[in-house]
Amino acid sequence: MKTTLQISISKTKQSRLQETDFENLVFGKSISDHMFVADYKNGEWTDLRIEPYAPLMLYPANSTLHYGQAIFEGMKAYKNEAGEILLFRADANQKRLNESAVRMCIPEVPAEIFMEGLMTLLDLDRDWIPNKPGYSLYIRPFIFATDDYLGVRPSETYKFMIFTCPVGNYYSKPVSVKVEQHYTRAAEGGTGFAKAAGNYAGSLYPALLAQKQGYDQLLWTDAKTHENIEESGTMNVMFMINDTLITAPTHTGTILKGITRDSVIQLAKEMGYVVEERFLKVSELEDALKNGSIQEAFGTGTAATIAHIAKINIKGKDYELPEKPEYAFSNQVLKKLDDIKYGKVADSRGWIV
Ligand code: PMP
Repeated sequence: MKTTLQISISKTKQSRLQETDFENLVFGKSISDHMFVADYKNGEWTDLRIEPYAPLMLYPANSTLHYGQAIFEGMKAYKNEAGEILLFRADANQKRLNESAVRMCIPEVPAEIFMEGLMTLLDLDRDWIPNKPGYSLYIRPFIFATDDYLGVRPSETYKFMIFTCPVGNYYSKPVSVKVEQHYTRAAEGGTGFAKAAGNYAGSLYPALLAQKQGYDQLLWTDAKTHENIEESGTMNVMFMINDTLITAPTHTGTILKGITRDSVIQLAKEMGYVVEERFLKVSELEDALKNGSIQEAFGTGTAATIAHIAKINIKGKDYELPEKPEYAFSNQVLKKLDDIKYGKVADSRGWIV
């Protein structure tokens, strides 16, 4: 790929490709050979480079370690049958990274640095992209503060980096979730809409409590009333009640604007479904589970694409959802998304680069 930016490339002397077990990939454990790095100093992003994936040198007073000025993205690259690399809605991830940046006082990364850095990296590590159904290359762009200074203020220096890891299916089994009505993930005016590291740190403890009770994930509710269902661990959530697809709106600023969420909404509308972007009340969900009007419940996210929900716990009571036949909406939309991502159907929406 030709770049107009100056990106210096230093290749690894010892590829780890041969020693990577592509048959037994654990999400996020096997990291590809190279990483893209850019430094922010004196008000600009400079020193664009690709280096072998390696440890970082940080001072103990590094401000990210203390005050958490860090944001990230999660996206995927796929290979089609011709071996070409396909990126799904990368522009949306690039924009969302900058929305997170603004909220966390982190300087935005120009789109061309993001895209050219990413494409150069993917070109170099193209052999790391699996070409099996369900497999892909997970891409982790992130930015963090690098000032060696303990004062509480926005850092003056940052690193923007991208590394990648080959991955298989994130959740192979349907998940069980617990509706969380005590702990809070995000409040209005807070940072819930940003992909900020601290949002994830704060959610670990409540999620761990639920895992100890046998649930995979939480269904978060709003901070004020704990009656409105918001989203799940690293997924937005959707419910098919009767023939209406319901998912939480994003205007409160408490929910991550998932790119899978947006894609599923668009496809559902094209398929003729009524889509309601509104808060589903916990009581409404409970009624729908009791009277059988709920057809499907699932999470949407880059890692899993669609994760079927098989069990929901509300106020200590478990409700089971039946297995989904192939014609169910969630399976149909998963197939449509996979066909687009793997280049099996023409992309009429401008989602594939
Ligand atoms: N919510 C949260 C909190 C997430 O971390 C993610 C994963 N990025 C999502 C929803 C789903 O977003 P996307 O579809 O863009 O991956």
